[in-house]
Amino acid sequence: MPVLSPRDIGIILTYRCHSGCKHCLYNCGPGWEKKPMSQKTLRQALEAVTTWPHAPQVHFTGGEPFLHLPLLLEGARLANELGIPSYVETSASWCTDEAEAVEHFVALRQAGLRAVLISCSPFHAAMIPPARTLRAVRAALDVFGPERVTVYLPDFLEVIQLFDVERPTPLSRYEEKFGIEAAQRLLWQGYGIISGGRSGYQLGHLVPRRPAQAFAEADCIADILYAHHSHFDLYGNFISGFCGGLTVGDWRDLPRVLADFSAGRYPRLIDVLVDRGPYGLLQLARDQYGYDPLPDGYAGRCHLCVDVRRHLVKTGDFAELRPQGFYDNF
Ligand code: SF4
Ligand code: SF4
Repeated sequence: MPVLSPRDIGIILTYRCHSGCKHCLYNCGPGWEKKPMSQKTLRQALEAVTTWPHAPQVHFTGGEPFLHLPLLLEGARLANELGIPSYVETSASWCTDEAEAVEHFVALRQAGLRAVLISCSPFHAAMIPPARTLRAVRAALDVFGPERVTVYLPDFLEVIQLFDVERPTPLSRYEEKFGIEAAQRLLWQGYGIISGGRSGYQLGHLVPRRPAQAFAEADCIADILYAHHSHFDLYGNFISGFCGGLTVGDWRDLPRVLADFSAGRYPRLIDVLVDRGPYGLLQLARDQYGYDPLPDGYAGRCHLCVDVRRHLVKTGDFAELRPQGFYDNF
């Protein structure tokens, strides 16, 4: 498989959303700038996707893409015009009225959108009343049918209805109901939490901490070079895999980025991560930039990586540590 050849590209229309969930890998939330991707940039992003010989499907995402419905409609229309299958990923935070949700989904389907993905987890339910998630699922099923609606993760549909669906459910309620160990398993393993973004800091208490050396053998070849799922954001960042805050290059210059990566030429920090993983990044940061490892250890290798990057973004000048907002919104 060629390097940097994803099957699914998320177009991040905005990093802004109402929620600021604790597990978010991209540190999205209400603190980001209000201005979304421009229509011109959206067209450029979709055209860039066609650079790949077998163009990936795209999903419009954020942040919350329904904050900018006209832009989302334009994206669906353009993707359709370019022959790219597209779907939208939403947290359903906006879904307070089912008839209005049906209207939005009908408009999107008519614009050429193929499918809908609705996020569903205790982390979302801690910020968004579950009634909104359930409403969005019903409305999407009405309009797109079961083959074209994905709930991520469906097992949590039942779980989020265990408490009052009209208000957010604090994560502590799961500990009260199931006991600490079962709640930890349900939340961390049940969702398959990746420790990047905020989650290592805000959810790291759910798993045992390990010292940095525990991750010395982990490299990031598969996660960066061979990721199936990647993102183009509104600032031009091409973010491979689920590595929020780390860009492999500018998607507006995609042919050059792909040529460089095919020839094994990577930005400096990416080179370290591909070759030696986050422990290699720690060694570089400790030896050259004065990084002190966290005394209590890390919730996972991505937590280690993110913590080192938070230090490097302040002490060095690395074009690959973008967008800056990622580092300002923990
Ligand atoms: S997971 Fe989704 S809803 Fe939650 S903060 Fe991230 S973008 Fe917002
Ligand atoms: S350790 Fe860093 S580079 Fe590797 S997968 Fe995690 S976030 Fe990505």
